[in-house]
Amino acid sequence: MYIAQVIVFIIGACIGSFLNVCIYRLPLGQSVVYNPSHCPGCGRRLGVLDLIPLLSYVLLKGRCRYCGEKISARYPLVELVTALLFVAAYQYWGWQWQTVSMWVFFAVLITASVIDYQHKIIPDEIIIVGCVLGIPLVFLFGKLIDGLISFLVAGLFFLFIAVGSKGGMGGGDIKLSALMGLFLGSPGIFVALFSSFLFGGLSGIILMALRRKGMKDALPFGPFMAIGGVMAAFYTDPIIKWYINISGL
Ligand SMILES: [Zn+2]
Repeated sequence: MYIAQVIVFIIGACIGSFLNVCIYRLPLGQSVVYNPSHCPGCGRRLGVLDLIPLLSYVLLKGRCRYCGEKISARYPLVELVTALLFVAAYQYWGWQWQTVSMWVFFAVLITASVIDYQHKIIPDEIIIVGCVLGIPLVFLFGKLIDGLISFLVAGLFFLFIAVGSKGGMGGGDIKLSALMGLFLGSPGIFVALFSSFLFGGLSGIILMALRRKGMKDALPFGPFMAIGGVMAAFYTDPIIKWYINISGL
């Protein structure tokens, strides 16, 4: 019972742990492959027992074993979200190339959105790795032409918005939007972008109403694109039906 789900959950948590390394190191320009992990507080090299996804955080009660410095809740959160999305994709598509493709897609979205939220940039490395892994995977489940057309359409669409919004959207948003087109194809990419504008717009209005942000403070858009991308991966058909219903088409 559920052995496959447990295995997928563990794989997801381990990948999430690697994404944490990427999230911490990519904006600093550090290698994500070569250096062993250190505590950001005391600099002590971390052992195997400090690096078990999810479990170490719980066992250490959220603090460094050596210096007692608080470990950010972001670490277990990224591991948990990655693991849950991996299981959800497995439940939805089973053992297919599309499942692997969506695992890569979700890993890219999580990494890009957390970095964008913290630093307001989306490093090119994420986009490049996404393309290098995404193109063969999308080809393997027979949607490469659709994916490449959606890549171009979504990228150009965002380019126009970026030019029109005079800096409200950045180059990172354009590249991430194109990459989402590759993984989602059509009509998924339209649902993803529609949803991300809806959530981004609503959050902007709420923050402005609470006077937390002025018109000038740009919200990082990456997290909203990630939410839209995940929604489109699972719910493209119901969302299109819902939209046709309320718009009376
Ligand atoms: Zn420490």
